[in-house]
Amino acid sequence: MKLPKKVKRYCPYCKKHTIHEIEKVKKSKASELKAGQRRFRRVTRGYGGFPRPKPKDREKTSKRLAIRFKCTECGKKHHAPTIRAKKFELAEA
Ligand SMILES: [Zn+2]
Repeated sequence: MKLPKKVKRYCPYCKKHTIHEIEKVKKSKASELKAGQRRFRRVTRGYGGFPRPKPKDREKTSKRLAIRFKCTECGKKHHAPTIRAKKFELAEA
């Protein structure tokens, strides 16, 4: 999937359409204090192994991508619903 580097989009802070830069969000390291991470540590501790089943038969052929839009006027970043794609590219111009 190809997306342009800059798109015109509604900015809820400026309350109008402005030019936004698209950037891909990288997965950050899970915080050890977050509830989900604490539960994961508790569940995987001791005997009994991994809490989720192994994927059967196939692997997913596409990945879910999180994309962030940065307003060039106020500098705020906004999220949009994630998309699924095999490949992801930010096109020139
Ligand atoms: Zn803005």
